Formats: sequence, structure tokens, C-alpha cells
Amino acid sequence: MLKISTHYGVTRFDLARTLAGRGRYWTAAYLVDGLMVDTGCAFSAPELVDALSDETIIAIVNTHSHEDHIGANGCLQRNREGLEIRAHPLAAPVLADPRGEQPLHPYRRFMWGWPEPSQALPISAGEVIMTERLRFQAIHTPGHSPDHICLYEPDMGWLFTGDLFVGGQERALRADFDIWGIISSLKQIADLPAAALFPGSAQVRGNPTTELAAKISYLEDLGEKVLTLHGQGRSVNSIVRELCGGPMLLEFITLGHFSRRSLVLSYIEGM
Ligand SMILES: [Zn+2]
Repeated sequence: MLKISTHYGVTRFDLARTLAGRGRYWTAAYLVDGLMVDTGCAFSAPELVDALSDETIIAIVNTHSHEDHIGANGCLQRNREGLEIRAHPLAAPVLADPRGEQPLHPYRRFMWGWPEPSQALPISAGEVIMTERLRFQAIHTPGHSPDHICLYEPDMGWLFTGDLFVGGQERALRADFDIWGIISSLKQIADLPAAALFPGSAQVRGNPTTELAAKISYLEDLGEKVLTLHGQGRSVNSIVRELCGGPMLLEFITLGHFSRRSLVLSYIEGM
């Protein structure tokens, strides 16, 4: 399923697998001055390719290699000769061989499917991608994944944050995420003067600075509490019970790949 909206002149595509007539597990992609930022999942790739048929695309930038952000890469690259894809240096091998380099848990195969392979050129930290009217600076922001980047347009004050910032307050984390990396990457982007934030899911936000600072504070405060309890000799399970609330549906759907326990462990093991 695909929904199109416009925010500050940027076209947003909300993309999801359609199940029983409804979109599930949405991911956002953006088209801004000819630059595609992410391409959704494999299930929605045909709809996205169709929706873009009359659009000029000068390049695709992937914020990271997760399957719900690279799903239409291969199809777009096949249909448009010479279409350049840019991604973090660590993401390029995953894009080239998703099945070999990024084995998917059953819930990920079900929600987002296997992406078609695509060929990407690495984008270095600080590198600027020029479009006709805008310039996008790549910021390496590991944590959500080791190969995550954000894009910053300094004249407009626009931040494209992929899955680094999607709002909310974490009570669970995926086992392979690095919470201290996420905090440090959030601090990098929170320092930038920003007028609008375009996340990889959740809504576009104007004036995101306060919300970014609040998110960092929340995650740091939680980390401090985890480490204090850990220092007192408390078990991981008892820290989870005290700080992370009751069982979550997400934990069942992902068979524990996303869990409150992984959040607590990431704080402890990442120190
Ligand atoms: Zn992701």
C-alpha cells in the first residue's frame, strides 16, 4: 500500500505491505528535489515504482540497509539506466546481496520481504550530495544499525533521520541495536539548526530541536537508572521489571528480537 503526502514541499511516500486490505508496518520514503531518500519494502516496490514513473530521480540515498528502506532499489535501478544509489560504506555489500548479508527473521520476511539486490556507491561522512536547488550533507549516525546515515540540508534546516529518530519513548530495543551509539548519533544531529525533521516512520515534525533534546534526556536518564541498578547487583530481569513496564506485543510478534531485555542489556553491555 502506498500513500502520498507533501510536507514543506517534500513528497512523502508511506509504504507498507497490504494485508486484508490494510497497510501494515509502514515505512516512509521521500522525494526531494529529485533525490529519493529510501525506497520502502519489497512488497510495496511495484506501487512505488509506478508512482514515480513520471518523476525525475537523480539519485537514491538509503539511510541504512534495513529491508524496509531498500525494497524498491533494485527495481528502480533496473528501470532507470545509470541510476546512482548512495549509502554508508557498510551498507553497500548488504544492498548488493540482501539474502547473503542480512538474513531476515520470520517476522521481517513477513512484514517487509526480501529486497531485490542493488548496487550502491559509498557515501563518506560529511560528503555533500547536490541536487538542482539543494545540498544534502551526509552524517554517519550508527546505533540503529552500524551503517546508518542522516541527511542534513543546511539552507532549509531539514533533517532526514531514517530510523535514528522516529519519536516515542523506547521500552524495548532490537537485539542488534546499540543504544549508546543511538544516543551519541542523536546528539550529533541535535546540535544542528533544524526547521523540520523527516523520519523513516512517524510524522514529519517542524522545529524538532526540543523533541530531539527530550529524546536524548529520556534515553540518558533511563541508561543512568539501568546502570545504577546494575551497579547495585540487580539482575537484568529485575531491572526490566522495574524500568520497562509489562510485556509488549512487539516482543511476541518478533519472537523476542525486539525486547525490553535487549534494551537493558544494550545499556549494560555497551559501557
Ligand atoms: Zn531500520
